[in-house]
Amino acid sequence: MQLKRAFYIGRFQPFHNGHYSVINNIEKEFDELIIGIGSAQRSHEVADPFTAGERIMMIRHSLEDTDILHYAVPIDDIQQNSVWVSYVTSRTPPFDVVYSNNPLILQLFEEAGIETRTPPMFHRQKYSGTEIRKLMLEGEDWRKLVPGPVVDVIDEIDGVERLRNISRSDA
Ligand code: ATP
Ligand code: MG
Repeated sequence: MQLKRAFYIGRFQPFHNGHYSVINNIEKEFDELIIGIGSAQRSHEVADPFTAGERIMMIRHSLEDTDILHYAVPIDDIQQNSVWVSYVTSRTPPFDVVYSNNPLILQLFEEAGIETRTPPMFHRQKYSGTEIRKLMLEGEDWRKLVPGPVVDVIDEIDGVERLRNISRSDA
């Protein structure tokens, strides 16, 4: 029997419990998962503080205790939507189905004739990258909103300190 592979893309700045629960909820629908690390070239920016490599670490350690076999593939922005799907598929293992809530991503894959599915949102107000980065900047508790291994990675790289520094101006 042929393996069924799924594709899930995000920026994962950082990888949080919403992403984790989506992956766990759809796990039975595929054999292997390809995780696209979007805007891979970005880091050290207020909306994109972590490097692709750091995001790969977050995901690898978070999925370590599951049965999910995944490939994390960095995907740089190309600013040319019309060829984006072939750009993605030229860099990833082959896949059969795309999971996303992003209307543009769904549109582009549907136009390319690739099956798409929209996973349900999981406490979107709480589990949101934007909200978590805001809590980090404000010195509030963000740790309960991400898998434990993500806390360890962010602590290892002094991620909160980095985010605070890059949010300051020289004025
Ligand atoms: P940001 O606020 O920085 O955009 P985000 O929480 O939306 O962060 P992304 O990396 O942009 O995280 O999301 C990747 C994918 O995961 C997107 O399709 C997004 O809609 C989805 N997603 C984000 N948060 C949740 C959640 N709480 N439940 C389900 N899906 C989510
Ligand atoms: Mg988002």
